[in-house]
Amino acid sequence: MSPVAYVGGQFVPEAEASVSILDHAVLYGDGVFETVIAWEGRIFRLDAHVRRFLRSCAAVALDCPVTPERLTERVVSTVRRNGLADAYVKWILTRGSNGTPLMDPTGCVPNLIIMARPFIDRSSETGLRLKTVAVRRPPGQVLDAHVKSLNYLNLVMAKIEARAAAVDQALMLDVHGRVCEAPGFNVFVVTDGVLRTPRHDVLLGITRQTTMELAEELGFPVVETDLELYDAYTADEIFLTSTAGGLLPVRELDGRTIGSGEPGPVLSALQDAYRAALSSPRWSTPVG
Ligand code: PLP
Repeated sequence: MSPVAYVGGQFVPEAEASVSILDHAVLYGDGVFETVIAWEGRIFRLDAHVRRFLRSCAAVALDCPVTPERLTERVVSTVRRNGLADAYVKWILTRGSNGTPLMDPTGCVPNLIIMARPFIDRSSETGLRLKTVAVRRPPGQVLDAHVKSLNYLNLVMAKIEARAAAVDQALMLDVHGRVCEAPGFNVFVVTDGVLRTPRHDVLLGITRQTTMELAEELGFPVVETDLELYDAYTADEIFLTSTAGGLLPVRELDGRTIGSGEPGPVLSALQDAYRAALSSPRWSTPVG
């Protein structure tokens, strides 16, 4: 089956899907997006992703050209038309073009793009090696991390630093030096059975939210708080969360072994609960 994508209000062969070079997404990184996954023919927490997407649109004054119901239907349809049971799905709303390369958004017509690819397994059995990088997450007054915007250069720079240091992933601090995020991931530390996750200048990840809900169901206390590097270095467990990656163990940070250096028992319990949640009708929408 040849891949198809949704762009400019219609489904087209993915190889022919294109946007104008005058689109403000190309010129200025001006747009918002969401990533969801389909697992065994069901899309996980699609409603929550649609709600976060509409909040991103509202925050950057972008009008979504379709209703939430229509958007949901188009996302499901993209997965179905690509014949995928397990899929990585991304939708983007660009500011669009007004026919000039100038920054003035007047007259721009937003463009909805949806694509679905076979699921990419990013799980790690042994755990990731992380390094704290120099580039910081910007504060909300500069670029609000709650908005899942196309403006990801800050995160790309962190990944480039991590790659140059030959580690698996970057740990990013906020401007106050507190633990913040990894590029594309939220961060949890576990100490004495209590989960803690940063509360400022982070994307309010759907997997972060799911992890907090599952942890409470399993009886692990969860706190959203400020975290210093000391809290991370001395944690029993650290793990990262994202839609595309799931829950990923961290075995090393800045040359220190975290806990036993093996994925820990709290993470293992949460990963089991998360795997069950992925295909549960409670959380997911059937592709049909
Ligand atoms: N933080 C950032 C900056 C992200 O881009 C993402 C996801 O792409 C996450 C965290 C994790 O969010 P979610 O669990 O909703 O995928």
